[in-house]
Amino acid sequence: MAESNDVAGEGVWGQLQGALKNRLNTQAYATWVRQITCLTDEPKRLLLGLPDMFSLDWVNNHYRHVFEEELIKIAPDASLDLKLHEPTSPPAQAEATLPTMPAAPASDGWTAGPRSPSAAQPKATAPAQPPPIQINTAPMNDRYTFDAFVTGPSNQLAWAAARAVAENPGTAYNPLFVWGGVGLGKTHLVQSIAHLLQTRSADAKIHYQTTEQFVNDVIHGIRFERMESIRSVYRACDLLIIDDIQFISGKEACQAEFFHTFNALYDAKKQVVITSDKLPREIKDLEERVRSRFQWGLIVDLKPPDLETRIAILKKKAITDALNFDDQILSYIAQNVRSNVRELEGCLIRVGAYATLSKREPTLELAQEVLRDLFPSQGRLTCDGIVKHVCGYFEVKVIDIKSTKRGRAIAYPRQIAMYLCRKHTASSYPEIGNALGGKDHTTALNAFNKIKKRMAEPEVQRHVEEIERMFLK
Ligand code: ADP
Ligand code: MG
Repeated sequence: MAESNDVAGEGVWGQLQGALKNRLNTQAYATWVRQITCLTDEPKRLLLGLPDMFSLDWVNNHYRHVFEEELIKIAPDASLDLKLHEPTSPPAQAEATLPTMPAAPASDGWTAGPRSPSAAQPKATAPAQPPPIQINTAPMNDRYTFDAFVTGPSNQLAWAAARAVAENPGTAYNPLFVWGGVGLGKTHLVQSIAHLLQTRSADAKIHYQTTEQFVNDVIHGIRFERMESIRSVYRACDLLIIDDIQFISGKEACQAEFFHTFNALYDAKKQVVITSDKLPREIKDLEERVRSRFQWGLIVDLKPPDLETRIAILKKKAITDALNFDDQILSYIAQNVRSNVRELEGCLIRVGAYATLSKREPTLELAQEVLRDLFPSQGRLTCDGIVKHVCGYFEVKVIDIKSTKRGRAIAYPRQIAMYLCRKHTASSYPEIGNALGGKDHTTALNAFNKIKKRMAEPEVQRHVEEIERMFLK
């Protein structure tokens, strides 16, 4: 079929665009979907072209699952492929070099206007009318308050720092940088700051934003020459919270924008709060000047809660959700889920739902029956599973870790993977070598010994333990 990007409602791509328009917010749709060129539109294959590498990566990493979820409803047999398709100019390497669209009409600034489902789709190369800019704070969860946050040795300091910031914004610790593993309460804690500040000072301008949305805003601003409008929103805050800042890695233009916004707020004694799943020094492809700003204030971490805290969290959650579970059930869950509070809560909800639906009393036996399969024992771990965790942790591709590449960025994760495979599976060294792309058994053996020795280094030990927490619940 002929190339097109302006059909709405026709063919698989037209229907998918309609579905995406409903599912994504206006800005995300305008920034990412409108620039797509449909290259093949067949019931079994949809091939979409993105105009530069940055967009291709971004859509693949952040929206591909949404595309796939919607596509399956429209054409269950269709496969989805995304590729670089650069119609007029040479491929851009980073967002700083994104093709700039024609200037916006000077008047409209940013508006929180409604979506316009019937708006004609501009051609990717020359949109007649840039879409309105919408800069909303991301939705917050009312339940995420200090009162609902259970404290223990793993999070006491972070909790106290967050409270101090909410009570004295802009003076206590600026910025406050909260870091910790997935599901350990970063978002909960920083939203608690927003809620407390709002109750104490109803006029405070609070902007809570995910990094993904911040990046969307900045790219949208660059593309449609509306950066001034975007800046005026971000720089007018009394409290700016940016959640999951690690996603800013490698995005130069967004880092520059963050840097200037940070400086403006800091100089005006306004509070900045940042969360991350990594320490500043571990965020890859981050400008030094940005990294150094992260370290200006206070860095606090959320560690996995100990058993007592896990039980206390479950008790509180059970009360909130009116689940009348006895302590045995709570201990059983707390003993088996060690590193992620979200999963801890998920188990409780699952047992509650199962008891209600099957009209049975919530007993320990019932909990064991419902949850047993969710608690993986070490015996079920495979080399492939471990390799995937290691790749996810270090943000490297499985294909690279299995390749013959020797740079430290790949070789070190590969050695860690080999070490963990040996430690947690019954696989032999030849099998482990094989699982890592057909390496020799001596490579696997040497890697194991090397990492075992290097476990004396705190950083290596931490890497290993954090990955283990991902699969040993
Ligand atoms: P993160 O942002 O670190 O991935 P979240 O803040 O989304 O984690 O927390 C995941 C879930 O666990 C949320 O429902 C949150 O309320 C809950 N949670 C995390 N830590 C605690 C805690 N200390 N007390 C109570 N609930 C918690
Ligand atoms: Mg979070």
